[in-house]
Amino acid sequence: MDLITILNRCHHFRGFVYHHARFTPDHKSIEISVRPRQGSASHCSRCHQPAPGYDQLTGRRFEFIPFWGFFVFFLYTMRRVDCRRCHAIVVEEVPWGDGKRTLTKVYMLFLARWARHLSWKETALAFHTSWDKVFDAVEHVVTWGLEHRSLGQIDAIGVDEIQYAKGHKYLTLVYQIDLSVTRLLWVGKERTIESFQGFFTAMGKQVIANICFVCSDMWEPYLKLIRQNCSEALHILDRFHIVANMNKALDQVRAEETGRMKREGRAPVLKKSRWLLLRHSENLGAEQHFRLRDLLRYNLKTVRAYLLKEAFQQLWDYNSPAWAGKFLDECRQTMRSRIEPMKKIARSLRNHRELILNYFRAQKLLSSGVVEGLNNKAKVTMRKSYGFRTYRALELALYHTLASCQNRN
Ligand SMILES: [Zn+2]
Repeated sequence: MDLITILNRCHHFRGFVYHHARFTPDHKSIEISVRPRQGSASHCSRCHQPAPGYDQLTGRRFEFIPFWGFFVFFLYTMRRVDCRRCHAIVVEEVPWGDGKRTLTKVYMLFLARWARHLSWKETALAFHTSWDKVFDAVEHVVTWGLEHRSLGQIDAIGVDEIQYAKGHKYLTLVYQIDLSVTRLLWVGKERTIESFQGFFTAMGKQVIANICFVCSDMWEPYLKLIRQNCSEALHILDRFHIVANMNKALDQVRAEETGRMKREGRAPVLKKSRWLLLRHSENLGAEQHFRLRDLLRYNLKTVRAYLLKEAFQQLWDYNSPAWAGKFLDECRQTMRSRIEPMKKIARSLRNHRELILNYFRAQKLLSSGVVEGLNNKAKVTMRKSYGFRTYRALELALYHTLASCQNRN
């Protein structure tokens, strides 16, 4: 059995024949010459229709999947066609290649598949190829995928941002978070009104008009754009962000008070209390519980703020929007204490009351947990990304790992 028999079995291209296989002089690569099958017409690469030949170009090499440690190349002399439909002399279309790329489609698919599991650098190393070729492969696959994806009915979306590179560079990510399907729909450079508006424009009016639920954080420009674009949808404030804000406020109270106590020469009872206070009390171990109970005996602002935060957590146990609203208002009253960061939270809860209660109006079906989960995956993709030198590479990697439909359950 020879190489050509094997190739004809796994990668047979209509209208072309494998002619001859040989080693290169250094014995590192196998070159396989490909020729048009006699009598078969060439096709125009613009309109994909058969067209009469015009002339031939110089030979090209297309890299194929490596075989038993050897590089494999197809050698082919491209023809140009005189296409009457396009009224132009156009280079022919070949089924194994894509435009000017030097990798065959099947090799690009092969590399891209591995690049979902390994970092791009590892993929390049594993197959003795370069980072740039892996980039090409992923770009080809992602471009094809985005051109051919069907958006269909999208019930729910969640928007969030992640920080990338060093410093304060952000990406806006929009996910589909339907009950059955989740996926990344859109990546926007930076976190701006323009970038988020780009999402609405890209999806088109019809898809946007059918969205029933939108989940976001409290960033005012997001809220405004969602009001403008999805006026019919139920807008839900992301539970995760509300809790995160509260933790931030509590942490601020703790840090200030720790500093003050130190200046006043008092016993450092708040020392090493940070995680004790920020963690949900249900997630503490026995020893930590004991320490927490000890800490709560002190009459401190931090303790009062902690108790407010813990009491607030009960909100999520409600089912009825009306009762949740009543509880929220009570919490707000108690938070208007003299602790400044907590006052700020109370104000924010007042300003976003309806959006918070929408969580209950949506019967608690849409939790931010889904967005968080997807965002964590996005961060993992990014962390594997010490090689993603450019925004473009990062964007491709995110679509590559997260944009295909993932069924929940
Ligand atoms: Zn044509």
